[in-house]
Order: sequence, then structure tokens, then C-alpha cells
Amino acid sequence: MTTSNELSRCVAQFDPQALPVTAAQAIVRQWATPVSTVERVSLADALDRVLAEDIVSPIDVPAYDNSAMDGYAFDGAALAAANDGSVTLAVAGKALAGHPFADHVTAAQCVRVMTGALMPAGCDTVVPQEQVEAASDGQSVRFAAAALKSGANRRRAGEDLARGAPALRAGRIVRASDLGLLASLGIGEVAVRRRLRVAFFSTGDELRSIGQPLEPGCVYDSNRYTLLAMLRRLNVDAIDLGVVRDEPAALEKALLAAAASADVILTSGGVSVGEADLTKQLSRALGDVAFWSLAMRPGRPMAFGRVWSGGRAGAGDPALFFGLPGNPVAVMVTFYQIVRDALLIMAGATLQPAPVLHASSAVSIRKRPGRTEFQRGTARRNADGRWQVAPTGSQGSGVLSSMSEANCFIVLAHDQPDVDAGDTVEIMLFDGLI
Ligand code: AMP
Ligand code: MG
Repeated sequence: MTTSNELSRCVAQFDPQALPVTAAQAIVRQWATPVSTVERVSLADALDRVLAEDIVSPIDVPAYDNSAMDGYAFDGAALAAANDGSVTLAVAGKALAGHPFADHVTAAQCVRVMTGALMPAGCDTVVPQEQVEAASDGQSVRFAAAALKSGANRRRAGEDLARGAPALRAGRIVRASDLGLLASLGIGEVAVRRRLRVAFFSTGDELRSIGQPLEPGCVYDSNRYTLLAMLRRLNVDAIDLGVVRDEPAALEKALLAAAASADVILTSGGVSVGEADLTKQLSRALGDVAFWSLAMRPGRPMAFGRVWSGGRAGAGDPALFFGLPGNPVAVMVTFYQIVRDALLIMAGATLQPAPVLHASSAVSIRKRPGRTEFQRGTARRNADGRWQVAPTGSQGSGVLSSMSEANCFIVLAHDQPDVDAGDTVEIMLFDGLI
């Protein structure tokens, strides 16, 4: 079992006031272990689930050689034998998709075929119908030999997937094309990991839920909706535990309930310096929790560790705990940059690196070395096909509209200094990430 000592040792080698983002990501990944329960679901329910086993193709796809075109199937040897450069063949019959031609075809014959039709016995080549001249009685066709190679316009059995070949790997998050692929193999059910359960709540005496009056000094709780949405996109089981007051007893109750019901707990608020004491005392008492000051903007303060449903380390069920900052943009940035990979690992998924592009900065950007910044940006492609990006409006960590307006993060690396207009920067497009 990993203890709090181990967690603090992981962090000890870094400046506690400025834990680099890459170090935090590595620590979090190390603590994330996949759920082990596997269940079988029908294909129609498998979208966005994580495969628990490799899928090996039980058949050849396609299962038989077939025509790739509407045309005439024949023995390709006739091409080499063509004397005046053209081939004339008698039409012996026809084959449609699902309606094969039953007889053997001789060297002097061909068969009218439609796309997908089984290649008749004795045929290995298809001449497209556009290339033939049919006799007026329809009994024979003529075409130029030069335009074709033997074996042309034939799809081979197993060309898409050969029997015994791995079609999809364990850890794959099932996409639309995968459902089709599995169906093409005749597979109606797959083994997937059980869905990860993630409980979340907001903390803060100033928070009001939608429908409540907004007294002076209060704000509506938006983080819960952002978190819910981000969790849904990852197809986890999201358990909304509401708003919890800044009160030790209420926080303790919520954390214990969350640890009992979920694999992961996400909270927002209450981890910043000055305010954090409450959460700090509590989550230390409930498990192994470290308080980080990340070298990151937005999203500096964060708590990470384990909370046990029994109220102390080792008692009851553990849950991985992420105490996110309260500021709405900081919540989203820490979720995508720190939490997301841990959730995917725990769900059993094989991590795919987030898509990163290079773009030219339209303006100069101030950047302090010694922290990673995730500025909200609007990227577009210029007429020359290159990406250009500019930060969106106010970059305050409470300004959620900057996130709504943006279509990417501008990722300014730890050691990077100020950016000049025209410099190349890395961007992470939200599409594909979110
Ligand atoms: P905290 O991290 O608790 O100090 O909160 C930092 C800032 O984020 C404060 O202005 C809070 O009012 C705001 N905040 C905290 N939680 C939420 C929430 N759930 N929804 C919207 N704003 C929040
Ligand atoms: Mg607060």
C-alpha cells in the first residue's frame, strides 16, 4: 500500500511551492490503477466503453473474394492471350451480391457481376462495365486488354481483416467505426471494464445552487456543471454530491460518503492558501493527502491523494482524491491537464497523447519562466494553411467566458519566456481533447 510518506517522498525532490506540471502528471499516473471488474455488454451498448480484452478476428473479412466493381468477371489469363489487343468473351450468366453464379466459368466466358458479388469459380479479374462494348444481343462483350491487369477489381478474402489477426486491442475506447468493425466480424458482445465511478462536490459557503436566491456575496455553483459535463464526455459514472458548506463535519461526511461510493473523488474550492486549513485538516485525517502548489497557471493550489471511507488510511475503501481549485477556469485546466489521464488509466484505457499543433502567435504574450501556462486561445487556419492563434480576452482564472470563447489551450512550457508576435507556440485544440 502506498502511504502518505511515499506520496510526500515523490514530491520532496521538487520545490514544494512550485511542483512542475510534468512531475504532478507523472505522480498522478503512478497512483492510478485500472478497475479490475469486467462485464460483457452487447455491441449496441459498447460505444465509448473500454475494451477489457483483445478482439481477434474469428473470420476473414471479407469472407470470400468478391467484385469491387459493376462489370464482368473473367479469367485474367485471357488478357495475355488477346491477339488484336482486345478480348471478346461470351456472357455465361450473372452474379449479384448475395446471389452467386453457380457454374464454373471457362476461359472463353465471363459473368456479369455487381459490386460485392462472389467471384465466380475460374474468375480472378473484373472489367468495369464502362470499359466494355456489349454485343447487341447481350450474349458477348469486347474490351481492350491494355487497360487492365490480371487480378484487377477483385477484393481478396481477408483483405480487411484476416482470420486470427487482432482487430482491436484491450484498452481501446470503442468508437463508431469499431462498432461497425465488430459487427462485420459477427461479434455481438464484448468484454469491457466496468465504468469508473467518480463522485464530485463543490465546497464554499458562498455557493448557491440554481433556483436559490443569490444574496449579496454569493455566486451560483458553476463548477459542478462543468465537472459533470467533462466527466460525461469521458463516459464515467458521475455521482453529484451537491454543494458542501465550509464546515468540518459537513466536509467529513461528504468525503466519507464519496469514498464509500466511488473510485475517485473530485472537489472544487477550499484548497487555496488561507482557506485550505479546513480541507487540509480533514483530508489528512481521512487518508493520505498532499497539498500541492503547482507551477502552473491557472490552477496553482491542488490537493491529491487518497481518502478512505473508514475515516483513516487503510480503513474501508480507498478513493483517489483530487481537490481542485475553486476558480472555474482553474477547475477545467487542472481537470484536463492533471485529472483526465488518471481517470482514463483507471478506466482501463490506453492513453493517447492529446493532439498538439504548432501555431504562430498573432500577438506578443507575457510569460513568466518557471511555470506552465495554459492560456485560452482562438486558433484559426490562415489562407496558406498554417495555424495562427491569439489569446482570448481576459485570462483571469475566474473568467469562464474566456474558456467558452476559446477553441484551444495555448501551452506555454515551464521554461518558456515571453512570446513575440510571429513566434511558434504549441496549441491543444479542444476538439479531440474535450
Ligand atoms: P476557493 O478556491 O474556494 O478559494 O475559491 C476561489 C474562487 O472560486 C472564489 O471566488 C469562489 O467563489 C470561486 N468558486 C469556488 N467554487 C466555485 C463554484 N463551485 N462555482 C463557481 N465559483 C466557485
Ligand atoms: Mg472556497
